[in-house]
Amino acid sequence: MNVRDQSAGLYIHIPFCHARCGYCDFVTFTGKEDRIAAYVENLCCEMDLYKKMFEIPSPRVGEGLGEGTYGRKRLDPSSPPSPTPPLRIGGSAKAIVAERGEGVLKTIFFGGGTPSLLEGPQIARILQHARRQFLISADAEITMEANPESLTEDKARAWRAAGVNRLSLGLQAMDDALLKTMDRLHTVAEFHAAYESARNAGFDNINIDLIYGFPGQSMAAWQDTVQKTIALNPEHVSMYALAIEEHTPFAAQKITVNADDQGDMYAWARGAMSAAGYPQYEISNFARSGRECRHNLIYWRQQDYLAVGAGAVGCIGHKRWTNHKTLHAYEQDIQAGRLPRLSVETLTDQERRFERLMLGLRLREGLEWGEESNPAWQDQRRKLVREGHLEEIRPGRWRVTEKSVAFTNKVLLPFLD
Ligand code: SF4
Repeated sequence: MNVRDQSAGLYIHIPFCHARCGYCDFVTFTGKEDRIAAYVENLCCEMDLYKKMFEIPSPRVGEGLGEGTYGRKRLDPSSPPSPTPPLRIGGSAKAIVAERGEGVLKTIFFGGGTPSLLEGPQIARILQHARRQFLISADAEITMEANPESLTEDKARAWRAAGVNRLSLGLQAMDDALLKTMDRLHTVAEFHAAYESARNAGFDNINIDLIYGFPGQSMAAWQDTVQKTIALNPEHVSMYALAIEEHTPFAAQKITVNADDQGDMYAWARGAMSAAGYPQYEISNFARSGRECRHNLIYWRQQDYLAVGAGAVGCIGHKRWTNHKTLHAYEQDIQAGRLPRLSVETLTDQERRFERLMLGLRLREGLEWGEESNPAWQDQRRKLVREGHLEEIRPGRWRVTEKSVAFTNKVLLPFLD
């Protein structure tokens, strides 16, 4: 990994919503909007704390820091990449790399929760601070998730001016009755107004999120949603099958989904998206050419990502961490000058390879899968090829076949044994 080719991202979690949707199991809090201002400051403090994690402590580059450390040695372009590639962020490395005009973080993603509850100056404050602490490419993709009811043209202009250049709008369905069933706070008309405001504010890279397979949602209603979404000409569309997660209001109501109906809806939508010029690049994602979500590709390609905020998960090399999931514990650690970690794990090489397989096979570009891999997986791969579920698209590069994309999770299941 050479830093000039390597993508690394920064995820920023904003855990506030005005109300909880029936299907939601994300780390988010309702009725705590009065704590947003303090939370913004805590995010900045957490970015400061990263320095501790990444400062170069001694001339022995990387010693004592574990995976994900970085060093001056790698700044020499003539030196070959080391087997465990370093990531250079913050501190003196930042100054050195800045002189060379290189960037490190290629993407930033505000996820939630409802990041669009934040005002322009709050987003600007976070991004300015991120720019002070981390190396960020001049052409970084900076995405913000937004809910229609909290998006106004003035706010969108302020986010855009702060540097946000991609919006991900949570529409879910073009059907007011269904939106109500999901406990969403917006109407279809409000979504259209928000979409127009975002375009007026200068956003030329917009994703629209959809959900399918709600009880009571007919195939015709789903087709209507997809067709009307395509008619808006967004750059990107994500569509997710409704899943009933434990401890959600829908689970408490014993709501169930029909997997066969969801399969039919998915199959129809894939065809419609392809016909409309949105190639599928991941199981749930479709984009105009060149408008694939660069941040999410970092996850699927198993590249490094930092993460700040309550409940956020980051991963650098073999080290993965999860932040405290309650505001109280998160704030307490930050105020005490500690990284707000709920847990830190060190993945084994085998675990990393397994995750790379699981993530890479979600992508239509597939993944490099050499002969060095686990013999049991190779047996499994041969079996899946015989059954027509896997194909080698060029030497050493594998992907799920077109006919099996809808069953990717089933294709992956045997590797879990
Ligand atoms: S808006 Fe998103 S994060 Fe907030 S409750 Fe609904 S699904 Fe969850």
